Amino acid sequence: MEQTEFRQEVREWLEANCPPSQRQPADRTEQVWSGRDLRFPSDDARLWFERMRDKGWTTPEIPTAYGGGGLNPHEAQILSKEMKRIGARTPLYDHGIWMLAPALLEFGNEAQRERFLPEIVRGEVSWCQGYSEPGAGSDLAGLQTRAVRDGDEYVVDGAKIWTSAGCESDWMFCLVRTDPEAPKREGISFLLIDMSTPGVSRAPIRMISGESEFAQITFESVRVPVENLVHEENRGWEVAKGLLRHERKFMSEFEGGALDPSFTLREAALDYIGLDAEGRLADATLRENLVDLEMERRAVKLTTQRVYAQYRGSAPDHRLPLIMKYVSTETKKREDELATDILGYRGLGWEGDSFTKDELNSLRVLLFDKALSIAGGTSEVQLNIISRNALQLPQGGAR
Ligand SMILES: Cc1cc2nc3c(=O)[nH]c(=O)nc-3n(C[C@H](O)[C@H](O)[C@H](O)COP(=O)(O)OP(=O)(O)OC[C@H]3O[C@@H](n4cnc5c(N)ncnc54)[C@H](O)[C@@H]3O)c2cc1C
Repeated sequence: MEQTEFRQEVREWLEANCPPSQRQPADRTEQVWSGRDLRFPSDDARLWFERMRDKGWTTPEIPTAYGGGGLNPHEAQILSKEMKRIGARTPLYDHGIWMLAPALLEFGNEAQRERFLPEIVRGEVSWCQGYSEPGAGSDLAGLQTRAVRDGDEYVVDGAKIWTSAGCESDWMFCLVRTDPEAPKREGISFLLIDMSTPGVSRAPIRMISGESEFAQITFESVRVPVENLVHEENRGWEVAKGLLRHERKFMSEFEGGALDPSFTLREAALDYIGLDAEGRLADATLRENLVDLEMERRAVKLTTQRVYAQYRGSAPDHRLPLIMKYVSTETKKREDELATDILGYRGLGWEGDSFTKDELNSLRVLLFDKALSIAGGTSEVQLNIISRNALQLPQGGAR
């Protein structure tokens, strides 16, 4: 189908199917997360989810055979843009959607795809990512969680840390060491672990933002069926790297639309700083910083559009997410800091009636977003990889 025709069709469908209440920004309590106990904050949220699920658009790029939307990357970007245009909420959140599903398409066998993909599309199970360990973050290949083959099962022992949604998730996609003698990247396998298996324990970790978004997970003699091995034994590093590409693509917010639409810096600056006699923003430094940031955001957005236009219909160069993840997470942090500069002391409130909802939210966002340039590989490590993979400069190995 022609792109303009497809865009028109998407636009009409969204107009007819997205309830007005689902065209407002959602705070965390209003987001719908996958899981065995899938819950909805409102009837409209349920309706919106069900309509998108039935269309396959909870996972636009998953083939229709598994219940997904069957869209190519360019069409998926059009859908995403059209949703943003009307402020439509993401109907379903899950690490399985962003990371595991595309990795299963690339590395899983048919039985695994048939078993897991439809559940991911329908939001019936939630997934978490078991990569980092207390002694293995940037140096991910140094991971020590062991999996020893015993008949038709692996027996897993070890610990994972910083596992987002680790306390709530039903399943984990997990990196384990299956050959301790092999060079470190060659002795790793990729396992799918049901978190209700005996021997799995979870402890929440509190973040600076006050939330307990992630957890430490411990495995003690956890028995995992061999059929849950993705790809081949000791070749999990290939899966791990492929999956990280999808994580970084997701984190790079390709649209360049990192601003929370309920709270734009421009409006906040007009409200809190005001204009001088010549009709300009009264604070010259802030004015300059705002313009700088706006230029950067537009550059990110135009670059993204250019790349998608260039790769029409097929997946863009895999180096792009590396660069875009770095740029967009650093830009988002600058944006949050600028918001705090604009709000002044009113941006430092934690609770109480004397602050507005946006003011209270802005501090939480500032603190939470510090994590963006750490999760999925730190900015420093991203720069190492960019210099090696995109610029072909010599480098040491890192995540
Ligand atoms: C919000 C959040 C969610 C997360 N969710 C998950 C999850 O769901 N699953 C999961 O497995 N992990 C998750 N992580 C963990 C994340 O992937 C790691 O924190 C990250 O890879 C960094 O590892 P580390 O914390 O061990 O830091 P370290 O690797 O110890 O790094 C410490 C510092 O040293 C720097 N550094 C390290 N090596 C180099 C190098 N070679 N060159 C230059 N600088 C270097 C780093 O940039 C960093 O500043 C999450 C992290 C956060 C913050």
